[in-house]
Amino acid sequence: MRTFAFTRASSLEQALTTRRAEPASAFVAGGTTLLDLVKLDVMRPARVIDINALPLTLVERLADDRLRIGALVTNTALAHHPEVTANYPLLSQAILAGASTQVRNMATTAGNIMQRTRCPYFRDVAAACNKREPGSGCDARHGINRMHAVLGGSDDCVAVHPSDMCVALAAIGATLTLHGPRGEREIDFADFHRLPGTSPHLEHELADDELIVAVTLDPPLEPLGAAYIKLRDRASYEFALASAGAMLSLDEEMIGEARLALGGVATKPWRCHEAEAILEGQPADRAVFGQAADAALADAEPLSHNAFKIPLARQAIVRALRDAARAAKEGHP
Ligand code: SF4
Repeated sequence: MRTFAFTRASSLEQALTTRRAEPASAFVAGGTTLLDLVKLDVMRPARVIDINALPLTLVERLADDRLRIGALVTNTALAHHPEVTANYPLLSQAILAGASTQVRNMATTAGNIMQRTRCPYFRDVAAACNKREPGSGCDARHGINRMHAVLGGSDDCVAVHPSDMCVALAAIGATLTLHGPRGEREIDFADFHRLPGTSPHLEHELADDELIVAVTLDPPLEPLGAAYIKLRDRASYEFALASAGAMLSLDEEMIGEARLALGGVATKPWRCHEAEAILEGQPADRAVFGQAADAALADAEPLSHNAFKIPLARQAIVRALRDAARAAKEGHP
């Protein structure tokens, strides 16, 4: 591991000023991605700026019924926060499906959004990887690509976005507040992560001299049923092969509003608007859920080792919709 300088920032301005003065620096909060990648020599910051002392740990309901979450709220605190368990059960379920208790205790809300891919070639400095080394190629395309994306990929990168929490954010709808030298700006969560295209090293819309300071959730659906289904190789501490987050509101047996997003199969948290349009106004039954799943996966393109992900994702979608409808009927989240 290479050595680096260390600064503990006591204010947002100090953190950003330090960053501007040394562009080869990196922010650290929980460290659950950064420290792994420093040890693997994938990330080589000259300075690490500790932002844990910044006052970004508040969860508050706003006057317009949205929920504002500070960037440094830990995944554990967020999953168990009473506002989240009562009104955003999909977010709670998705967070608790990820990582381990120990990791969730350290990982933060903004860090989860900013986490890097688990593509093994990205994490191996001897491999060709356009995301780590632009222009070097992509060893995953014709290598072992069982875990890779079937949606949103390009010739240059097919790495999956690894977050469970972000699947819930995509389904719920959220706004990110970014702080930089020109003050604060907001960006829709749906627009924050980029598709890889020809520049997979550009992963998001955050500028080098900005920090995420808050995530604000859209108002909750009512009455709401929600379910997160994550299918993976082992039952805990494992990334998704395919996951689906669903939220439904029901009027008797008919679907009112529907939200659906996928994880484990796409290069960014994947909202399924076409599937939602098929669901809304239809009976909450297996045939309709299957039609929605087919629509969600209509553009899926398998690689040499991951065709199995398409029927697997279909199963995850149908089960998530079924469980969300059941929860809505029974009157609990
Ligand atoms: Fe790198 Fe993306 Fe290819 Fe993985 S899939 S090796 S992250 S370019």
